[in-house]
Amino acid sequence: MERTYGTHDTFHAPSGEPQGPCRMSAEVIATFGRHLLLRSPDGIVHKARPQGRHLEIACGDRVEYEQNAGETIVTAVCPRATQLRRSSLRARSELLAANLTQLAVVVAPLPEPDLFVVDRFLCAAECAGLHALIVCNKQDLALQQPMQAALAPYAALGYPICGLSAAAAADAPQLLDPLRAALRDHTTIFVGQSGVGKSSLTRLLTSDPAQIAIGALIKDEEGRHTTTASRLFDCDGGGRIVDSPGVRDFAPAIDDLEPTTLGFREVAQRASQCRFQDCSHMQEPGCAVQAAVQAASVDARRYESYRRLRRLYDQLWKKRPEAERAARRH
Ligand code: GDP
Ligand code: ZN
Repeated sequence: MERTYGTHDTFHAPSGEPQGPCRMSAEVIATFGRHLLLRSPDGIVHKARPQGRHLEIACGDRVEYEQNAGETIVTAVCPRATQLRRSSLRARSELLAANLTQLAVVVAPLPEPDLFVVDRFLCAAECAGLHALIVCNKQDLALQQPMQAALAPYAALGYPICGLSAAAAADAPQLLDPLRAALRDHTTIFVGQSGVGKSSLTRLLTSDPAQIAIGALIKDEEGRHTTTASRLFDCDGGGRIVDSPGVRDFAPAIDDLEPTTLGFREVAQRASQCRFQDCSHMQEPGCAVQAAVQAASVDARRYESYRRLRRLYDQLWKKRPEAERAARRH
């Protein structure tokens, strides 16, 4: 299949700088700990590792590598078009995936969805400039009505919702058509609680045996590390997906969140009407967001989710050194 590898030409060292004799570029298609799989433009997959301890690399990254004594070493990461980051417990920012264009939150009636986590993923997508959609899996199970009610506020905010059943699609592949269409022109990360069906969907969307073999390669070599592996797959119908390990309690990286809205669309729609330009929409007078919650034009649970994320955001900033906090204020 013909594939484009972005703007490779811009990755060469500036003229005047010595160029290594065999510097090559490739895309990261799997990470498991510090182990990487790269795919070079000719389609060959290489096992690799980063040079030194300080290179931050994730699936979707385009990198430069060198081959030396049978080893493939990543020497540089190319500038990223987008990045999806989360906060660590110590309030640092960790890269989950690079060069995505879309984020799909997968939910299901079982395990029962944690909508606060769904909101945080959607906020992270909003602030990272990614398209976002909700994939509602396991439509073969009962409990569809409560799901529809729970997801109605997201539909009202313009998030596309794609309902399906991976179980039913195993025998009726056309059931996947709407999802395939939503993925076709994108590099999409599948996120969501463990058990919602991300891996099942990924398996249905990618039938290329070579890609499945790559999964086996990781398994053989790494055994117990496989659960932390992140993979980039080509979809049969076009587009690519990143399957990330289940994220139980995702918090977006605080540096990336838009400070007055935190990525909540309904807040962004109203923030300019608040009395204070830097309104945190928590208790200020003349707050258009709180007024909209009172008038029931903003969903009360989503607003509660906003308040939780605001508190977390403030707590995480407090863990940062004073110099960083001061830099943020200016
Ligand atoms: P992941 O942790 O999100 O990757 O979820 P998995 O793909 O491993 O699926 C978790 C469990 O849900 C497995 O036992 C699947 O067989 C099951 N499952 C996945 N999709 C469906 C579905 O559409 N309907 C039902 N009933 N079960 C499903
Ligand atoms: Zn406000």
